[in-house]
Amino acid sequence: MPKTTIILLIDDDQILLEMYEQKFKLAKFDVLTAINGNEGFKIATAKKPDFILTDLVMPGSDGFEFLSKLKRDERTKNIPFITLTNLSSESDKKEVMKKGSLDYLVKSNFTPAQVVEKVKSKLKK
Ligand SMILES: [Mg+2]
Repeated sequence: MPKTTIILLIDDDQILLEMYEQKFKLAKFDVLTAINGNEGFKIATAKKPDFILTDLVMPGSDGFEFLSKLKRDERTKNIPFITLTNLSSESDKKEVMKKGSLDYLVKSNFTPAQVVEKVKSKLKK
């Protein structure tokens, strides 16, 4: 049996986080969650998830700070990730794509089920 994919979800919106968690669990992922960049980074280094889905705007330690730390650390720099945000911004998109984001998803444009499909399609590559 193939190994279960571990995904780390980072979002300060608890309701959204739980909603995505349920969707990914239904799709047979092992799910880890964090509510800000600091917590996300601690979990990423400790658990080495196979994939990360991170929000950008979060109080305290945001997604940009999180991604900078992730890319600087040997243990985590190769973990693939997608960013998920409320705001569609060309400059934010450019910045995260430069950091290696495999996609830049605006939350209102995708249902949680579609987000799961996006992640699955990136994992196949
Ligand atoms: Mg947020």
